Amino acid sequence: MRVDWAPERRGAWAEVDLSAIRNNVSLLVDMVGPSILCAVVKANAYGHGAREVAAAALDGGAQWLAVAFGEEALEIRESITDVPILLLQEISSGTNSNEIRELLELGIVPTVYSAEGIERIGRVSKLMNRQVGVHLKVDTGMHRVGADIDDLQSLMESISRFPSLGVAGLWSHLAVADGEYGEDIEFTGRQLGALRGVYDKFVQSGESPVMLHLANSAGAIAHPATRLDMVRCGISIYGELPSEMVAGRLAEHLAGNISGQLIPALSLKARVGYVRELEEGERLSYGRHYRLNRRSVIATVPIGYADGLARGMFKPGHNVDEGAGGYVLLRGERRPIAGTVTMDQILVDCGSDTSVSLDDEVVIIGEQGEDRITASEVAAKLGTISYEVFCGISSRIPRVYLNG
Ligand SMILES: *Cc1c(COP(=O)(O)O)cnc(C)c1O
Repeated sequence: MRVDWAPERRGAWAEVDLSAIRNNVSLLVDMVGPSILCAVVKANAYGHGAREVAAAALDGGAQWLAVAFGEEALEIRESITDVPILLLQEISSGTNSNEIRELLELGIVPTVYSAEGIERIGRVSKLMNRQVGVHLKVDTGMHRVGADIDDLQSLMESISRFPSLGVAGLWSHLAVADGEYGEDIEFTGRQLGALRGVYDKFVQSGESPVMLHLANSAGAIAHPATRLDMVRCGISIYGELPSEMVAGRLAEHLAGNISGQLIPALSLKARVGYVRELEEGERLSYGRHYRLNRRSVIATVPIGYADGLARGMFKPGHNVDEGAGGYVLLRGERRPIAGTVTMDQILVDCGSDTSVSLDDEVVIIGEQGEDRITASEVAAKLGTISYEVFCGISSRIPRVYLNG
């Protein structure tokens, strides 16, 4: 018989504080009201765990959920039955009619932006004899997916060929709502104007009013006019922000009539697995790039790039004092990653601190003592954004939920 292995065996884990998710959603809901909030939980809730985050977001006051793909929606539907889940992408051509039927039966809300996509859903809804309200996505300048404004007339005709289909929402996506330059701010205004223009025409042509939505976190916080009927917030519900500009705008709201603050929900932690002292002049890890300039206590920690601690967190030629490489928190101190990040392990330079011991907690992202390493700080070291850092935390890392 096999033994059940406890998650602690791994020596590395992510803690997700669900009370932080509830707090963040509730703060955003207060801020954007009367617009409602859709919690974006695609990509396993940015690595935080889709089902758990979705439940916490609803407790915090979210009224909708959004994901990229059908499979993601189904996973959440297993535990959350009564809330609309919006698909941010059109159901793909590879999806067969049984699969589409399952999505529609479960009340998943499809997005459409092509005649083929409309056809796919229309045929199945007709067979099912079920009324389906789709959200029509319009490209207002992001140029990723979304219907050309010039094609809307013909798409509306495609929809009306299926009496089982109706438009329940019109939406678009902002490209530079996190930008601080005048050009970005102007572009966001143009996108809003374009979506409003589409909506006005839609209503003038005799259609009933539908839900209108445009804002991501950056729009919801930094461009209040984009909030419309609903905001689709991802990164902010996890307690991070898309840019310094957005952080500044949030601070202004918080100095005004909204109280509280966003709290990072995820911490990435590990335990020291091995400790030794090495002599001055020794060189560590693959490539021998990290040279000890004094006798040092070196802690080995069982987390590496296969877990999502990116190899770029150590740069060859990196000198401790340059700050070019990454740090971890250990015994309340910020300590450098010492040498090449390997697939399963890192080395940490603890200098002369002989108190460092086996099983000490190591914080890669999160708080320890007086200090905190944010996902944004890690992202800045890697030349990326917090979103990618979160999504990079692999399935090898067990997620531990606090305050569920
Ligand atoms: C991911 C995504 C969002 C959420 O963006 P954040 O910047 O994380 O708030 C909103 N809308 C669409 C279409 C998305 O793809």
